[in-house]
Amino acid sequence: MRYSAFSVLLNGLRGNRNWASAWRQPEAKSHYDVIIVGGGGHGLATAYYLAKEFGITNVAVLEKNYVGSGNVGRNTTIIRSNYLLPGNNPFYELSMKLWEGLEQDFNFNAMVSQRGVLNLYHSDAQRDAYTRRGNTMRLHGVDAELLNREAVHKMLPFLDFDNARFPIQGGLLQRRGGTVRHDAVAWGYARGADSRGVDIIQNCEVTGIRLETGHVTGVETSRGFIGCNTLALAAAGNSSQVAEMAGLKLPIESHVLQAFVSEGLKPFIDGVVTFGAGHFYVSQSDKGGLVFGGDLDGYNSYAQRGNLATVEHVAEAGKAMIPALSRVRVLRSWGGIMDMSMDGSPIIDRTPIDNLYLNAGWCYGGFKATPGSGYCFAHLIARGTPQETAAAFRLDRFQRGYLIDEKGQGAQPNLH
Ligand SMILES: Cc1cc2nc3c(=O)[nH]c(=O)nc-3n(C[C@H](O)[C@H](O)[C@H](O)COP(=O)(O)OP(=O)(O)OC[C@H]3O[C@@H](n4cnc5c(N)ncnc54)[C@H](O)[C@@H]3O)c2cc1C
Repeated sequence: MRYSAFSVLLNGLRGNRNWASAWRQPEAKSHYDVIIVGGGGHGLATAYYLAKEFGITNVAVLEKNYVGSGNVGRNTTIIRSNYLLPGNNPFYELSMKLWEGLEQDFNFNAMVSQRGVLNLYHSDAQRDAYTRRGNTMRLHGVDAELLNREAVHKMLPFLDFDNARFPIQGGLLQRRGGTVRHDAVAWGYARGADSRGVDIIQNCEVTGIRLETGHVTGVETSRGFIGCNTLALAAAGNSSQVAEMAGLKLPIESHVLQAFVSEGLKPFIDGVVTFGAGHFYVSQSDKGGLVFGGDLDGYNSYAQRGNLATVEHVAEAGKAMIPALSRVRVLRSWGGIMDMSMDGSPIIDRTPIDNLYLNAGWCYGGFKATPGSGYCFAHLIARGTPQETAAAFRLDRFQRGYLIDEKGQGAQPNLH
């Protein structure tokens, strides 16, 4: 069923009783060409592009919970492509370009809103670093503007410009960055993949990976054994647990990250603003709630909830940037499990097991990567060679010393 203004009108007149389900609820077949573990954004996008771009439709996405229950429905919805390093920059720009055409492509309203992402700077040294980043972006054809204090003041007069400790000197703006309604992305990809023949099996947990002579033959699941020719892992925060079922130890730690939503307020923040002197990012949803977050909780965890010390830490950073936040009530908060890699960059690669593929290590930043990641992972699975913009995201780069350390933190996963 195609969605259009006409179908909205027609179904409205008929009492909205004739809408078809967005995707089927099929029983799993005994065997697939490709099984994808994880019905999050990346797993569903991979299935969508496998079917749409590469003609591989005998595919199942196995999701232990329901579609959208993982990080794809838990993030703070920010998309951007303001990366510095050559391994990252072209990939995130590919993803941004895919965002720009996504709603037309999968015929679903994901509320892609290019309202701008502004990173504040608070010192001369930070301005120089942002200038370098902005210049690099522009050299790669990505939009970037360095704003001085007056220009930021004009946009966001309520920021604490004269904060004694963190005065605001300006910001680096990417106007094409913005926000996307996160769960609609999962639903849009699920619907698009399903309509091309992909089976999305919810409430189906993968509990084991069956190997014969070093080759994956299928997966044990809570609904029984399902065979496959190719197995692709896209389990985000649970990546290490799932890879361990095949005997692989990944350079990944799982950490919890929290998100917060305030009560609804009159519109006052147009775009996304990030604090440069700590870790705080905020945007305002179309319903008026402030959507914000900060650092990881700082310990390894597989729990989808965090602790109060981090709530206080995030609130402090927010108030240092916008003092008026002290009057705002928080309505909701939740946590997600982050697959933190050792250099802060992802892995889209084959593994030492020949028909087992890995998509993992997305850290804080995997939502914006969803279209690019799905496309590049599908390319790798279908063609056997990496898509050119994702060629650096190799699993063996940690052994070879070719790290993609965007933040320059070293092998300290909780700091990336
Ligand atoms: C609070 C928070 C804020 C964030 N903010 C941003 C942001 O603003 N911008 C940004 O770019 N990124 C952000 N991220 C990161 C981003 O959400 C993730 O990197 C990205 O969503 C991960 O990919 P995914 O969507 O495939 O993950 P998920 O949605 O987590 O998908 C993985 C799926 O695998 C399933 N699974 C796991 N184990 C099994 C198993 N054994 N069998 C079957 N299924 C299994 C899980 O249930 C899950 O549904 C944020 C994350 C969090 C938690």
